[in-house]
Amino acid sequence: MSHTAEIIAVGTELLLGNIANTNAQELSQALSALGINVFYHTVVGDNPHRLEEALSIARGRADILLTTGGLGPTYDDLTKQTICAAFGRPLVLHQEIVDWLKDKYARTFHIPMPENNLQQALLPEGCTVFDNPVGTAPGCAFEEGGVHVLMLPGPPFEMRTMLSRHVIPYLRALSAEVILSHDIMTFGLGESPMEVLLRERMEHMENPSLATYAKPSEVRLRATAKAGSEAEAEALLAPVVREVTDLLGDVVYGVDVPGLEHACLAHLKERGWTMATAESCTGGQIAQRITAIPGASAAFRGGVVSYWTAVKHSVLGVPEEILEAHGAVSEETARAMAEGARRVTGAEIAVSVTGVAGPDPDERGTAVGIVYIGLATPEGTFCRRCDFGKRRRDLIQNLASNHALDVVRRYLTDLPIQLR
Ligand code: ATP
Repeated sequence: MSHTAEIIAVGTELLLGNIANTNAQELSQALSALGINVFYHTVVGDNPHRLEEALSIARGRADILLTTGGLGPTYDDLTKQTICAAFGRPLVLHQEIVDWLKDKYARTFHIPMPENNLQQALLPEGCTVFDNPVGTAPGCAFEEGGVHVLMLPGPPFEMRTMLSRHVIPYLRALSAEVILSHDIMTFGLGESPMEVLLRERMEHMENPSLATYAKPSEVRLRATAKAGSEAEAEALLAPVVREVTDLLGDVVYGVDVPGLEHACLAHLKERGWTMATAESCTGGQIAQRITAIPGASAAFRGGVVSYWTAVKHSVLGVPEEILEAHGAVSEETARAMAEGARRVTGAEIAVSVTGVAGPDPDERGTAVGIVYIGLATPEGTFCRRCDFGKRRRDLIQNLASNHALDVVRRYLTDLPIQLR
């Protein structure tokens, strides 16, 4: 039987636009991966009457209700009380939560538990308790009249922790089916040419199904299978993932890899190599993306943000003649920047970016969206020229850092630097 869930986010801040409803986004992604339909997101303020109304509507059209927020100890945290009243469940004190809270306050905050935190130990009678190792408000779940109600805390980090620790296993157990997905990650082929390549294959696919999620130059293909067990689902997925990967060829940079920077780091570690960056128009974005990954220090030596032309010369040693003859945005400068970064850091490879992110052309009239990526390696120096056209500055920067990482990943996997 297929399930339908509705997400009710509680919080006046959300209605005022002070914060975005990222909890609903994350929950929806998880629910879709579990094969649970989501037809409505609701947001209500900290108001018991309107929450009651939202619950009454939601339970008429969904058999799983997930709420976030309003579990705290303050007077406006009314989610539990309102839900318990609506579903006719008494709120009871859970002594094990009282003990846990007292212990947490003593050990972590070195103060006695404030009196009003006792409220957090009040949960619906007979519920499943979801512990909260990263906060103080536990979540919970209960079933009433065929409807499952799951209450989660508002702070996104707490919600996320509870989602993977408790909510996903709880929801998995509701279904006899196992739903499993693999993400085939690609860079360099647009969504439409990809669809043309895969159309025939995709049209006849039901289990596994194949869905595309596109960003500029990047497409994630998600293959999802339903089966009686994880092994059966894996067996259904394996040939499809293999077939699609073979069909798409070298634009595939990994399966279940979170991003291009992760692929680069993995390839560098495999070789026991290090890399460095020399960035102009991306302002350090590539270095930031790599260093955001734990363990990056094994393979990333460092980077230079050589934004001024003078810094390209003084720090990276780009010859003045090159800068004068060809300009800061040129193939020659990109190559010399990469070579300079490789030389000063001692890394095996260095990638560079120089381009015009806009909104205006550079002083030599180079158009917005022209970006050169240099790559200095033990085998010589390479360059990819990109023309992203006149787009928003942040999009050009993002595309440029993606292309730079793609150049690195292609070199490290013995592929030609240029995209076909
Ligand atoms: P607390 O114990 O901190 O009071 P709570 O479960 O009562 O937690 P809220 O007080 O409703 O949660 O929200 C706490 C904070 O979490 C909010 O100030 C907001 O920053 C964030 N938050 C709440 N709901 C959402 C949401 N739907 N999406 C993103 N952030 C949210």
